[in-house]
Amino acid sequence: MKLYVDPGHGGKDPGAQGNGLNEKELTLDIALKLRSILTNSYEDIEIKMSRMTDVSKSLQERTNEANSWGADYFLAIHINAAGGSAQGYEDYIYSGLSNTSTTAKYQEIIHSEVMKVNQLKDRGRKKANFHVLRESAMPAFLSENGFIDNSHDAALMKQDSWLQAVAQGHANGVAAAFNLKRKANNPPEPTNPVAGTLYKVIAGSFQSRENANERVAFLGAKGINAFVNPTIISGKTWYRVQAGAYSNRENAEKQVAVLKQVGIADAFLIAETSIAAADSILGPTRLSAEQMNSFVKTVNPDALELGSYYQDFGKFYGIRGDIAFAQALHETNYFRFTGVVRSEQNNFAGIGAINVDHPGASFADSKDGVLAHLQHLFAYASTEPLPPKYPLVDPRFQLVKRGSAPKWTDLNGKWAVPGTTYGQSIVDLYKRMVDVTF
Ligand SMILES: [Zn+2]
Repeated sequence: MKLYVDPGHGGKDPGAQGNGLNEKELTLDIALKLRSILTNSYEDIEIKMSRMTDVSKSLQERTNEANSWGADYFLAIHINAAGGSAQGYEDYIYSGLSNTSTTAKYQEIIHSEVMKVNQLKDRGRKKANFHVLRESAMPAFLSENGFIDNSHDAALMKQDSWLQAVAQGHANGVAAAFNLKRKANNPPEPTNPVAGTLYKVIAGSFQSRENANERVAFLGAKGINAFVNPTIISGKTWYRVQAGAYSNRENAEKQVAVLKQVGIADAFLIAETSIAAADSILGPTRLSAEQMNSFVKTVNPDALELGSYYQDFGKFYGIRGDIAFAQALHETNYFRFTGVVRSEQNNFAGIGAINVDHPGASFADSKDGVLAHLQHLFAYASTEPLPPKYPLVDPRFQLVKRGSAPKWTDLNGKWAVPGTTYGQSIVDLYKRMVDVTF
């Protein structure tokens, strides 16, 4: 699809102003973020922007450009103003359109997606006789993302994470309205609890290798490839017949159904995370809080017990909490704080620490310290807005180039400078944790 994105105002026209903010800058920021989300995450989308910089452009020029380009959708982004007391989000389609029009349906979808993430009061879906809605030859939509002269809304507008969330909401809406296909190499959702997991389809598990071989032959005759995969469970060898391995659970379940159709009633699937997946910052936490705590105590019997925070916050942000724990052990020398960061700082990840004169951030308690650590990792590993629920306590979240380090080894030279082996040390430490605790 061809999407025309129109950040409102620009150049000599600042748009609405208030609380030290200019509408033209906010709309451009959101629009550029929207453009990068859509082009990075989706196939079959082409985007043209009315402006990419701070330039003047008339409304006539904008609609003419969209019309002659043959856009499929016109999306204008604005910020409201009304004298200070009004607040919230609203969006518009052309007043001449019915509620059952295609344009109204698109509005409904985008409105609901944006409202999910923008933390603004919902002022509803509206219609108006605005130039860009009336003179555009394709379905058109205009959003008013909060009131610049309202202190509540303006406080949000000053946060880059909010602008990112608003862009993400628009992207989600456009993707849903136009059924856009996600790119295959798109990074996994941070909240996906199974990133890095392999689903193995098992067509029977036998104590005799002969029986397992027979099963493989039976499947071969039905055109299904399988092999025997011996596995030791509680000291006993089982000959598993593996008939497929998938990164996508649905595909694995389809294969189980196929096996049941040919008479393998005992087919099942197992989820496994390979050590190779330990390379990714996003993914499920494999070790329990007790395993983490007992591991650190093999080295430092007086260590703080932070396993449950790493477990819980890791799960919430979709981050490998157990590997983050390994990073904390690496940073703090097993919570002995022998470096520049002092134990009373509750800074387990060396956030902002440079030297003895600049020991970095301090947190109210150990819980906040772990929360900040996981938020900082989230900033590096994901481009998604920080999920709500917990306050942002990482003071350096906004300074991170979002998504610049999806892997632990990508942190080399970023989290630690120069740190050419920083990520490797963390993953190695994690592997030792796995070896000791299983
Ligand atoms: Zn405006």
